[in-house]
Amino acid sequence: MKKLLCLLMITVILLCGCNTRVKPQIDISEKYYYLTSHVDYGRGSTATLLHRFNVENGSMTPLCPDPLCEHSEEAGCPFAGALNYTVDGDTIWFNRVLYNRDGERVTVICRYDIADGKLRVLQEYKDDGYTYVFKFGYLWKYFTHENPTDKDISVRISLEEENFDDPEEIDPGKIPFAQVGDVYYYGAFGTYHSPATEVYAMYTDLTDEWLVADDMFSMNFTYYDGFLYYIQEGTLMRVSVDEEITGIPVNTKETVKKAIAAYFFYDNSLFYLQSEGDDAEVIGWDEFLEEEVKNTYGGKIWRANPDGSKAKVFTETDGYVISKSMLSNAQVGNRLVVRYGCWKEKQRDGQTFRAWRSTEGGLLVVDLNDGSYRAYQVFDE
Ligand SMILES: [Zn+2]
Repeated sequence: MKKLLCLLMITVILLCGCNTRVKPQIDISEKYYYLTSHVDYGRGSTATLLHRFNVENGSMTPLCPDPLCEHSEEAGCPFAGALNYTVDGDTIWFNRVLYNRDGERVTVICRYDIADGKLRVLQEYKDDGYTYVFKFGYLWKYFTHENPTDKDISVRISLEEENFDDPEEIDPGKIPFAQVGDVYYYGAFGTYHSPATEVYAMYTDLTDEWLVADDMFSMNFTYYDGFLYYIQEGTLMRVSVDEEITGIPVNTKETVKKAIAAYFFYDNSLFYLQSEGDDAEVIGWDEFLEEEVKNTYGGKIWRANPDGSKAKVFTETDGYVISKSMLSNAQVGNRLVVRYGCWKEKQRDGQTFRAWRSTEGGLLVVDLNDGSYRAYQVFDE
């Protein structure tokens, strides 16, 4: 008995010792999806608010932790009007456009640490026509020109270092779409390479001028496992790139899949939405836009090998008309978050019309291991 007591005590001491040394860690990146949405929490006011959506139980809560806050700009909610954001672990950076104390329109860059609830305003920029986007661990500040050959020096600021006082100047003044080693890929509209309004790709390592990628007409790039993927006129193409040396294409382009609307990679597989074209089922008539509404992707998510072979339907979302928005960036751990559409009433000149909203029905959470899904109606009626 004494021995047993002794053992028990030692065990208790050991357990306590462990508890004081090891801080409990919650991996929230596997559990939450962040999104901006218009939700009315106050007296009829609506603001674009940052929310987090729990993919395990479907609950959606404003990121603002104040239970008494109306979450509107008028009420001074520090999370209202969030435009663009990026998440790394339990830190979220976002920007808001608002009027400061002097009545000037400004963009503020904020950082919120969810674990300790600390919100900081990192920088305030006067509204000078620049756009601010978070990507690849940086804040990119750039100017949009109609003619891509009108170049502008822009800046990028490392989110890790938060060096707002000494930003790194970059050329060209654009935001990249993909990163391959030290090389960034961009897409641009213009007449530089081909006929008017053509889209073309270019790349740069930011130490030299940017170069046009031959025969790549796209604004949509993804780098995965040695290949640069891009959608050109609805077809998903890929080219292998030399990540170690230059990041530039090293072989001929190959077709992966035709009529692709959105895609992403998970667990060495390509997941995608395929446009059904003229075969798409008509689901009704949008009175507001006066046009037919079609189930464009047939409520199907496909899965294939990264080269497009062995394609088959992975999930069929019966009754839910899925939208292509969010498919390429809405992976949370082993789950995928997809928006679906619904019918809503819309007003014009005092009249009410039945209109299709392609993303406002709610969110589907798809299990990427077995294809099962759950639907959550999280938006306002
Ligand atoms: Zn609030």
